[in-house]
Amino acid sequence: MSTPAVDYNLDVARIRKEFPILNQEINGKPLVYLDNAATTQKPQIVIDALVEYYQKYNANIHRGIHTLAEKATAAYEASREAARGFINAESVEQVIFTKGTTESVNLVASSYGDKFINEGDEVLVSGMEHHSNIVPWQMMCERKKATLKVIPVDENGVLDLEDFSKMLCEKTKLVSIVFASNTLGTINPVKEIIAKAHDVGAVVMVDGAQAAPHLHLDVKDLDVDFLGFSAHKMYGPSGVGVLYGKRELLEEMPPYMGGGEMIKDVSFSKTTFNDLPFKFEAGTPNIADVVAFKQAIEFINIIGKDKIQQHELELLNYGQDKIGKIEGVRLIGTAAQKVSVISFVVEGVHHFDLGMMLDAKGVAVRTGHHCTQPLMDQYKIEGTVRASFAVYNTIQEIDTLADGLERIVKMMK
Ligand code: PLP
Repeated sequence: MSTPAVDYNLDVARIRKEFPILNQEINGKPLVYLDNAATTQKPQIVIDALVEYYQKYNANIHRGIHTLAEKATAAYEASREAARGFINAESVEQVIFTKGTTESVNLVASSYGDKFINEGDEVLVSGMEHHSNIVPWQMMCERKKATLKVIPVDENGVLDLEDFSKMLCEKTKLVSIVFASNTLGTINPVKEIIAKAHDVGAVVMVDGAQAAPHLHLDVKDLDVDFLGFSAHKMYGPSGVGVLYGKRELLEEMPPYMGGGEMIKDVSFSKTTFNDLPFKFEAGTPNIADVVAFKQAIEFINIIGKDKIQQHELELLNYGQDKIGKIEGVRLIGTAAQKVSVISFVVEGVHHFDLGMMLDAKGVAVRTGHHCTQPLMDQYKIEGTVRASFAVYNTIQEIDTLADGLERIVKMMK
């Protein structure tokens, strides 16, 4: 588990060397990977940590007293501490490992929702949510006969905060909101949203899936009640995520799943549950990926979020300007505050065709509804092409995208 003693100082060429996958040709062209909002690539230190775990200390955690079990447990818990620091949480007990953002939202919707949401209560989400921050609440509201309400989004992809304020009332029990939209890139003013929701006594969950790789996450400063995010979108392995929760809420919530690890004592007449965070971590977890997640956090910390943001903002501004000028292109999501996501449609050309033709040029972009179908309905489109940037992307890669796109659009006319 070596951490490189490197100050990358945003030397992108140096950073790219840490990502072996980037150094390859796709369809005879150098790979230009611009699908980072779906998942980022993994630096060598993350890959090494996975291999090292399986080669040297694979063992089940928490229960064993032998050396390997102790080593694996220590590495697993060291990742929890790294995740705690990453979001500035008070205690590791408030950091629960999940499979990802989706499971984090489902956990809160099931556990908190089933206990604390009642008939006639209202739950608010926004019009730009990912399906994983819609469907779990819909399911819970149906079970509990509560009402799901939607905060409107304007043409630029900005939340209507006036409408949001008007929607808040004594019936509002929970607000679940995305920090940064995966489709539009919009950064929502979550601190203000949380404060307003707290004024009416509602708790707030923030979907931090797209914020985690780009923006500072400080749960104390935000005063957020629940936060979910995924390791695979921030240079870490897939199948790992975090749910942060305020201690008093987590203490009151029933377990999400029953099984090993989440109990203190089991008998056929009564089971007592384990302390936080283990109460919410039933069964053998995804040990190797959690262990390697620490290296992803350290990778981000070594470069620094400020430098990452600065570089990605440069890419965003350059890309929006260049792509926005191509004939027939309409940008979807033009908020002033954005993470490095550019979504667009091209008049008369289907987004799938664009994606396939760009792939033939070695350029990987995402096409489709990006798990935000209600947002697509609002824009009256089926889907978009989405280019999303990470710290290893370059201006030259955006030029390759823009040149390719320009040629395709001309050819299709
Ligand atoms: N929320 C947002 C904004 C996302 O972009 C995604 C994934 O694309 C998710 C939630 C779901 O994340 P995961 O699939 O890692 O659980």
